Amino acid sequence: RSKAKGRGTHTLFTVDMVESYKRKMSLANSIDSAIRHDEFRVYYQPKISKHGAVIGLEALIRWEHPEYGMVMPGEFVPIAEQGGRISSITQWMIERVCMELPDLQMLVDNKFRVAINLSGHDLRHTDLFNDIYELFERYKVHPEYFEFEVTESSYLENFDTADKFFKRLSNMGCAIALDDFGTGYSSLSYLTQITIDTLKIDRQFICELESSERSRMVTGSIIDLAKRLALTVCAEGIEQPSQWRYLNEHGCDHVQGFLFSKPVPLSKLIELPKNFSHFLDDTTSFE
Ligand code: C2E
Ligand code: MG
Ligand code: MG
Ligand code: MG
Repeated sequence: RSKAKGRGTHTLFTVDMVESYKRKMSLANSIDSAIRHDEFRVYYQPKISKHGAVIGLEALIRWEHPEYGMVMPGEFVPIAEQGGRISSITQWMIERVCMELPDLQMLVDNKFRVAINLSGHDLRHTDLFNDIYELFERYKVHPEYFEFEVTESSYLENFDTADKFFKRLSNMGCAIALDDFGTGYSSLSYLTQITIDTLKIDRQFICELESSERSRMVTGSIIDLAKRLALTVCAEGIEQPSQWRYLNEHGCDHVQGFLFSKPVPLSKLIELPKNFSHFLDDTTSFE
């Protein structure tokens, strides 16, 4: 408990604060060794077409920590960014997906892409394109199997480098998606400049679809905007059949969410159904 502030008094940290600080420091200091000891895991969450077929996978990192158990990226990615270690994680992630791609190809019947999340810090590291190119060559994977997801703020904060980088990826055949769309910048003018294929509607709007008419309006407008700009639109965080039905009726191309599958390791992807269209038979509606 921290004492009342004032001259000559000490601030006492709570046990929880000390523990969380220790955990943070320990995670920050063990990222390199975690890579060496193979403690990171790739989980995959399917992306579903409007007809219910699996047309993509998002690769999401986890840390199977020997002491803390499963640590989520929401906790350690910012720590890695602050400590300047995110580029090793990105490199690890892309390489691991390249290695697992032949198995993924056997599991998914359709043409598909695997999406990798990039952090804003990755975009300041100018060798990233060459690193990716070399990995694709080394593992003999076609760039058309890859998509890169970046948030609008990461893209815009590093616009010149980011745009050059994404143009090169795009020319090589990779797709680019703007992640968490609708939660970052308020100005839309940059959409005329940017090199992207897909807008990903943030989960926040999807979980409010039923309760908030405004969220329905915003979601519908993002879908229209994407169509007008000839972009693909993907919604994340679908948990209810009624949410998918709403999105489908409003022209959303792709969806992702726990309704279809939580992110799972490669070994569990085999259990994934081949088609999810039965969820569209559901007739509950919130309009
Ligand atoms: P994101 O890229 O927006 O990923 C979506 C997050 O929402 C994932 O959390 C996913 O598990 C979760 N999610 C998906 N469907 C649902 C749903 O229906 N309901 C709910 N409640 N959640 C759902 P996760 O895996 O914990 O990742 C969190 C964030 O961490 C990601 O957000 C991404 O920004 C970042 N991240 C994950 N993997 C990587 C990585 O390899 N590199 C970098 N730089 N960032 C990563
Ligand atoms: Mg993402
Ligand atoms: Mg997202
Ligand atoms: Mg997100």
